[in-house]
Amino acid sequence: MDCLFCKIIAGEIPSAKVYEDEFVYAFKDIQPIAPVHYLFVPKEHICCAKKITAENSGSVAKIFESIAKVAADENIESYRVINNCGEDAGQSVMHLHFHLLAGKKMGWGEQSLG
Ligand code: AMP
Ligand code: ZN
Repeated sequence: MDCLFCKIIAGEIPSAKVYEDEFVYAFKDIQPIAPVHYLFVPKEHICCAKKITAENSGSVAKIFESIAKVAADENIESYRVINNCGEDAGQSVMHLHFHLLAGKKMGWGEQSLG
């Protein structure tokens, strides 16, 4: 499958790994918009949040567990988790991923979403 994040998980494309377990791979975003900007992806290919089901939602739970673990390990007290689903929301890579943003004061509302 021609999927950028599947290739990153497989090690075919380099990435700056921050966490890995049986279900989850996490790495630094190549174009960070905050001092901490990591991407958490399920190892299983799921295109987007629309395709989360009872069968695969365990991967999503594992992602949130791993986010809590990485945040604790790196003493990140406050953070934002974002998932963009679909074109209008700005999803550019069609492999489910969650952005972990931290390290700066973040606004809320239309302006802060770029
Ligand atoms: P989204 O726009 O929500 O689909 O997020 C995709 C993210 O993937 C963007 O923030 C990109 O900067 C990031 N990205 C794209 N290619 C790479 C790469 N090779 N390594 C790390 N991050 C990437
Ligand atoms: Zn994929």
